[in-house]
Amino acid sequence: AYSLWNDQIVEEGSITVSPEDRGYQFGDGIYEVVKVYNGQMFTAQEHIDRFYASAEKIRLVIPYTKDVLHKLLHDLIEANKLDNGHVYFQITRGTVSRNHVFPDASVPAVLTGNVKVGERSIENFQNGVKATFVEDIRWLRCDIKSLNLLGAVLAKQEASEKGCYEAILHRGDTVTECSSANVYGIKGGKLYTHPANNFILNGITRQIILKCATEIGLPVIEEAMTKGDLLKMDEVIVSSVSSEVTPVIDVDGHAIGTGAVGEWTRKLQEAFEAKLPISIKS
Ligand code: PLP
Repeated sequence: AYSLWNDQIVEEGSITVSPEDRGYQFGDGIYEVVKVYNGQMFTAQEHIDRFYASAEKIRLVIPYTKDVLHKLLHDLIEANKLDNGHVYFQITRGTVSRNHVFPDASVPAVLTGNVKVGERSIENFQNGVKATFVEDIRWLRCDIKSLNLLGAVLAKQEASEKGCYEAILHRGDTVTECSSANVYGIKGGKLYTHPANNFILNGITRQIILKCATEIGLPVIEEAMTKGDLLKMDEVIVSSVSSEVTPVIDVDGHAIGTGAVGEWTRKLQEAFEAKLPISIKS
């Protein structure tokens, strides 16, 4: 397998990252995940734009242009002959003797990336998944796609141990998002989701779903739901690069709507799928 290491595509095993890399010691960096369908990246530009936006928010300078990065990701996919899966990439604030204060501007950032093979989770899309409520104990800048994922890791582990696909996070009574996805409720022919502010990551998939909703005549209301609101929704979905439009049919043992995948969800899935670089419909 080949990996991305700064501006080079190299054999995975030839990469050396120092134990004093700030990503390793502080989680001082950011990342992105881009889905690959039939060898083609989906919404690569949007992910690259968010990568640069996250970097700017933490005052990390990416020493490459967006076009160079785009080309590197493309080359990485080609080198690995990846058909279906995703490309992961991250950048850290570099390697320097441990100190919370930023290193000098002369210390180069460390960019790495790799690909992972994986097929779409058609079974989840068709049958729906279970979720559980978990208190959102993350920091207050969830809009940054930070390498610090401990809050998300703990939440997802809890969900996994309960046999659930996702943890639906809430701050007090207010539902924010999931450990690695956005969450939506549909009720009375309207789609509700948390506004894109510092409490959530504005998913690239979220942005596409909001467009799809408008296209299919499902009005979008960017307002936070309470836990009680969410349980009373007709339909609930979660979204991310890998989850696409995944229906949630059960939260902590409470059936959502009829407990089966709803009509609006199906329509959203169709509208979403129509935008993908794939020819075979699931
Ligand atoms: N929210 C969080 C906390 C995430 O980690 C992710 C993706 O990993 C998302 C939302 C969904 O974002 P995207 O649709 O860009 O994958």
